[in-house]
Amino acid sequence: MTKSMLIVSTLEELFNARCLLDEPVGLVPTMGYLHAGHISLVQQARSECESVITSIFVNPTQFGPNEDLDKYPRSIERDLQQLEAAQVDIVWMPTAEVMYPPGYQTWVEVQNLTQPLEGSMRPGHFRGVTTVVSKLFNATRPDKAYFGQKDAQQAAVIRQMTRDLSYPIEIVVCPILREADGLAMSSRNTYLDPGQRLAATVLYRALSAAKSAFADGEKNAEKLRQIVKAVIATESQARLQYVSCADYETLAELETVNARALLSLAVFVGKTRLIDNFILG
Ligand code: AMP
Repeated sequence: MTKSMLIVSTLEELFNARCLLDEPVGLVPTMGYLHAGHISLVQQARSECESVITSIFVNPTQFGPNEDLDKYPRSIERDLQQLEAAQVDIVWMPTAEVMYPPGYQTWVEVQNLTQPLEGSMRPGHFRGVTTVVSKLFNATRPDKAYFGQKDAQQAAVIRQMTRDLSYPIEIVVCPILREADGLAMSSRNTYLDPGQRLAATVLYRALSAAKSAFADGEKNAEKLRQIVKAVIATESQARLQYVSCADYETLAELETVNARALLSLAVFVGKTRLIDNFILG
């Protein structure tokens, strides 16, 4: 008999439901508006764990004042249908008041890994992420937690936080799911109009060009960044915010790609900010 999916909101409801789960428990944190990328994380958790918890929470503390918190897309009914089909045991949908009750004043901060890349463009973003993820970890007590390589720096920061705070949790990072034309799946792709949607393939094309240069022997990190820049420049609707070729572990910018490297970029297409990355080596 298949168990029915429990949908909970308060901490008390969550704790009561969590107590009844068979272990190991896998956690998949999300902000909702689910796509196949999210579901691939759920499927990986389903295949490795006895029970799966998915959280849906658009975390206000990880959005900057001029970012898209107010218009972040939502589709709760469709999300719940997808999670039920993927055989999730518990969906936790806390309200902002459950997460941050009046008088809230405690924060979790990872110092160095949060400085470059997304951290430099989105001040305070990772403080919000690590705080909410540590609250999700404390409340759901998972054995494994699943994150996407799409948000490569986030995965690195969460791994660091998990080590530093001695969480007995295995962090599993899952590959990026892409549309047929290479665009990395993202809830924010829904902001793109048809012309912008076409232009957005430039991120994948730029990363692919650099990757094939790397495969042909180009190890100079600056040359690889220049290849990405040159391809982005061919698309009039795209504006490069940063391109990075960094050490995979430390995220320090490289001169030469000798070991595993993260080639990543952020690009505005119209007002929509898109990120993507490839792993080199
Ligand atoms: P979000 O709802 O954007 O916070 O994403 C929730 C989780 O799904 C994060 O760990 C993301 O890295 C992951 N994710 C988002 N997009 C993708 C994708 N295209 N492929 C794989 N994982 C993804």
